[in-house]
Amino acid sequence: MRLDDLKPASAPASISLTATSRLPTRYGEYVLHVFQDHQAGVEHIALVLGEITNSSNVLTRVHSECLTGDIFSSQRCDCGEQLAAAQSLIHAAQQGVIIYLRGHEGRGIGITSKILAYGLQDQGLDTVEANIALNLPVDSRQYHAAAEILKQLKVVSIRLLTNNPDKVSALLSSKVVIDSILPIQTSPNAFNQAYLQTKKLKLGHALSLC
Ligand SMILES: [Zn+2]
Repeated sequence: MRLDDLKPASAPASISLTATSRLPTRYGEYVLHVFQDHQAGVEHIALVLGEITNSSNVLTRVHSECLTGDIFSSQRCDCGEQLAAAQSLIHAAQQGVIIYLRGHEGRGIGITSKILAYGLQDQGLDTVEANIALNLPVDSRQYHAAAEILKQLKVVSIRLLTNNPDKVSALLSSKVVIDSILPIQTSPNAFNQAYLQTKKLKLGHALSLC
């Protein structure tokens, strides 16, 4: 696929493809596209394995940036584990896409506030209470950029890897066709057990916890 193939004639100005390259990884050889989000002022990534243009039922992970989890293997959350699981499943299927959304750190509050919230969690607040104590939204993430990227990649419909019901409804309201939802089960540890319990009980995430 060439760069020009991905540019629809009437691309909205909010998201535009700026670069494409091959990206060999531990989980197969992907094609990496960078999309500039002009509205949010960030660059998102689409990591594509196999042919997804004009395809239905494409295995898809829409992943919110989490520097501590994705880069440093933090055990305070399960983001890094979910990202690795998604990449592994896409590798096994030999087809799929990971849309990596920037500006989603700490469910949208940014890295500084997220780390401040961690401090409050160490004093006994849960992840929802900590955001509220900081006068910040519990979850301000938006997913229309992911919908637009899927549209520009000409993906017809997806199998969505997620535990998050808000993500499903946000993508549906952005006209993404979701064929099925596949939960990602990660292994809770001593540090994220309470966090995952809060995500399950207060944010409705589909998690099986013991
Ligand atoms: Zn995380």
